[in-house]
Amino acid sequence: MEQLKKLPLPLLLWFRENARTLPWRSDPTPYHVWVSEIMLQQTRVAAVLDYYAHFLEILPTVADLAQCPEDRLMKLWQGLGYYSRARNLQKAARQIMEEFEGEFPSRYEDIRRLSGVGDYTAGAISSIAFGIPVPAVDGNVLRVVSRLTDDHRPVTAPAVKREIRAALEKTIPQDMPGDFNQAMMDLGATVCLPNGAPLCEKCPARQFCLGHLRDTARNLPVKPPKKERKIEEREVYIILRKGRVALRRRPARGLLAGLWEYPNELAPYPCPVAGRVSFAGTGKHIFSHKEWHMTAYVVEAEEEELPCGWVWADKAALRTQYALPGAFVPFAVIVKERIE
Ligand code: SF4
Repeated sequence: MEQLKKLPLPLLLWFRENARTLPWRSDPTPYHVWVSEIMLQQTRVAAVLDYYAHFLEILPTVADLAQCPEDRLMKLWQGLGYYSRARNLQKAARQIMEEFEGEFPSRYEDIRRLSGVGDYTAGAISSIAFGIPVPAVDGNVLRVVSRLTDDHRPVTAPAVKREIRAALEKTIPQDMPGDFNQAMMDLGATVCLPNGAPLCEKCPARQFCLGHLRDTARNLPVKPPKKERKIEEREVYIILRKGRVALRRRPARGLLAGLWEYPNELAPYPCPVAGRVSFAGTGKHIFSHKEWHMTAYVVEAEEEELPCGWVWADKAALRTQYALPGAFVPFAVIVKERIE
């Protein structure tokens, strides 16, 4: 890991000129850094920007987040995906209220104990908001380091990750840990790009990066073979009556926990209410470990009564009250047209 020792100075000089302008960087309070980092997990920066601004407008403090009703929180998160992130944010906000009297904890160990905060996020908050010299190691950073050091071991292996983290702990400048971590993030996001496409000519490390000098960078990092995703054929019923659509709530645990949905099950799923049924279209949604291949039907319901716990939602309620996961976006137009 000798190459890492050469990195801080050129990287920080590069960062001074090339740092991305991001809203959470202009006022990096622990709350802002935390919310942004949680939103950025598995989600692109461009997609996060609007959500971030709106979220802070509605929930400007830890106390507001701790008190927010669950449905409202899910609605704020609608479209960002991975909803357990929002639930963990709220759990952690409540932890902060109860254990730290509403004051964001300032020790790495306390931050790491917050719900939904792993090593990476704890490192990011500690270094950026509190100036604590700990690394923030995510996939971007692992990619940069594996290329810099021409390391052909799988970076997802826990032992390799630990080694890289330990090397970064020795490398991180004590007086500028936040800038160093953010510079690594930016280098990974804008220059040392994934999928065989590093822009080495723009990189501050090109003179000593072994992956570049040996022309191996495009094949790094080595990743383990991907697991096949399970495919589920599902049937979805868009049940309509008097300008409203039927929704039911998903179970409190598991995939898309607690969100609302059009009734759907693994095929074959007989129509759950009486009415005229017509084919509406198909849609596909990819989760990390499974794919839903959906066939949707519109049902003109004959009766007002719905199975226990289901609700009728009109246009306004759909917009403001019920959070539906992105999986059902392919059918949003059908619903919108039919309940206008
Ligand atoms: Fe990545 Fe190329 Fe920079 Fe090496 S020189 S860190 S491969 S962008």
